[in-house]
Amino acid sequence: MKNLSILGSTGSVGKSTLEVVSRNADKFQINLLTANTNFSLMLDQIEEFGPKFVFLEDTEAQKSLLRELEKTKINTTLLTSEDQLMEVLADNNSEIVVAAMVGVAGLKPVYHAVEHGKNILLANKESYVVAGEILNSLSSVTGSTIFPIDSEHSAIHQCLEGVKDKDSISKLILTGSGGPFLDRDIDDFGNVTPEEAISHPIWKMGNKISVDSSTMMNKCLEIIEARWLFDIVDIEVLIHPEGIVHSIVEFTDNSMLAQMSVPDMKIPIAYGLGFPERIISGSESINLDTLRTLTFRKPDYNKFPALKLAKESIKEGGTSFAILNAANEECVEAFLKGKIAYLDIYKLIAKVLDKSDIKDVKCLDDIFQADKESRLMTREHIK
Ligand code: MG
Repeated sequence: MKNLSILGSTGSVGKSTLEVVSRNADKFQINLLTANTNFSLMLDQIEEFGPKFVFLEDTEAQKSLLRELEKTKINTTLLTSEDQLMEVLADNNSEIVVAAMVGVAGLKPVYHAVEHGKNILLANKESYVVAGEILNSLSSVTGSTIFPIDSEHSAIHQCLEGVKDKDSISKLILTGSGGPFLDRDIDDFGNVTPEEAISHPIWKMGNKISVDSSTMMNKCLEIIEARWLFDIVDIEVLIHPEGIVHSIVEFTDNSMLAQMSVPDMKIPIAYGLGFPERIISGSESINLDTLRTLTFRKPDYNKFPALKLAKESIKEGGTSFAILNAANEECVEAFLKGKIAYLDIYKLIAKVLDKSDIKDVKCLDDIFQADKESRLMTREHIK
């Protein structure tokens, strides 16, 4: 039995992870589940999976959950402080840590888990985007592994299995469905509403990542994520609206390997949970008989300028990733609350990046400082 700790268990990836776990109940047991506020779903998850520990960020939600737990005979401990959470994350029972929370808020627990040599299944791409350099060097000291739960990166990992010579890889091609506005007229982008931005045609995801997919900021973050995961700089993006080919690796002999599946996060989750074994994902199989066509096209950088920011940040390095990510998180939140227009998202991020001083990253605090300054500057511009 592998021991699992799931950070962000009530979100989209957290729920899918528990679905995979329930199909492989003989292989996994749950040590810890965490969430922000959703105590009622947490209670359901406690009843079904019997975790040893749970943590809720919100103190009101903690009280509500405690009241519910007292009515039952369930033997789950509710952690009430971040210190307690960090202690449980570091102990020997947290073998695998699934990082499925949203945003850079996940960085502290992810760093802590890497520091204590845990195997990380990483869906919280923001943490890795901003701190890839220090997380990688820390993991090489502690023996921690960082394994992607992102469909594109899982695809690349699968294509690279058994590749012994890194020099034989010529480039990585990240595919993207193109989001809800792939074929929308650029002149109409000013009228995009939050409701439209969060209705993704292919993937069912949380609000933040859905907006990121619509602006292609998600793909921008994924280029940076791929750079940290695979230590390869030649990374291209290809639009593939059907969402069947999840990414491609091209080798120096011009041979390409691609990974295909229906667009369902349970596949990369099961791959990560089971690796090196294959376990049941509960996902559907692709029906190749009825699948008539797979199409690919180049991304339109005029419509989706956010894509350009990845290469610029990789060139700049240092705190540029933290500045980029923080500005984006602030803009997405402001857009969802109706405070800024859709086109302002990119404009504001580009402005903040332009006006910020980029510094070297030596420790976690350098990242938190850059994150804070970028948020302040972005909020000023939003006002
Ligand atoms: Mg992805």
